[in-house]
Amino acid sequence: MKVFSNLQSIWVNSGRQWRQGFLGIVAIALITLVATLRPAHAYEVQITPTSPQLGDTLSVLVQPARTGPSPVVTVKGQSYPTYALPGNRFRALVPTSPLDQPGRLTLQVSGQEETRNLAVELRNRSFPVQRITLSPSRAGLEGTDYEFGRMDELKALRTPTKFWNGPMSRPNRGRVSSEYGIRRYYNGEFAQDYYHRGVDYADGTGSPILAPAAGRIVLVGRVQDGFTLNGNTIGIDHGQGVASVMIHLSRIDVREGDFVQPGQQIGAMGDTGFATGPNLHWGLYVNGVSVDPVPWRNSSIE
Ligand SMILES: [Zn+2]
Repeated sequence: MKVFSNLQSIWVNSGRQWRQGFLGIVAIALITLVATLRPAHAYEVQITPTSPQLGDTLSVLVQPARTGPSPVVTVKGQSYPTYALPGNRFRALVPTSPLDQPGRLTLQVSGQEETRNLAVELRNRSFPVQRITLSPSRAGLEGTDYEFGRMDELKALRTPTKFWNGPMSRPNRGRVSSEYGIRRYYNGEFAQDYYHRGVDYADGTGSPILAPAAGRIVLVGRVQDGFTLNGNTIGIDHGQGVASVMIHLSRIDVREGDFVQPGQQIGAMGDTGFATGPNLHWGLYVNGVSVDPVPWRNSSIE
């Protein structure tokens, strides 16, 4: 009888194990089914700087759960491409400017995984204000269609390769004579759309102008070709929607198509175009918007 009871207990135990095993398989099948029906994988997103202010460039780092196509970052109806980084990561650069509204800025990351909605607090910043009185002759100075067209082409570039590496370097040894973002009143009237779209350096005619980062020379504009407002101009494509523009030059040492290294001399300071004296105006554009170059000089924006 002892043998029988042992056999019975083995039979009962194995029956329980079988039932548990079956329930386990059903549970796994259900979890798999739910996972297939609903995209449980969501992008992991990191935004830097964490406390941005007007003029800053937001770096939006996206880590997908699985490999797949590049996600898209959308801000205020405007979509920004992401570019692949090592380790199955993607990054978009979102520009801000003095024309943006400070406060809550919402960002959406969408693609093959679950859409993520995020928000950052865009801090206000007080920019210096200038009051300019224009004489009728000065007020009448306009650029040419050729000049504006070439500038628009530069801002529209979205070269997939990233040419810059690490912090950008100072493009001239002179003192900063006019900082980024200054707002203006013209003849007593606030210019809603105006802000100083760059940083000015002053060091006298002929002072060397250096490339702030590696890139391709995509624009050489001269006064005699119609660059009446900006004067002699160099445009550098740093890749992935980042471009520099150097204006008012006295001399240009590069040609379109050249590839330049950071710190390489590309021209010399001058006062060509709409300039009150010899100075370099360095404008830095991110996806078509003039951003503050200072954070790009102080830190490495990857
Ligand atoms: Zn300027």
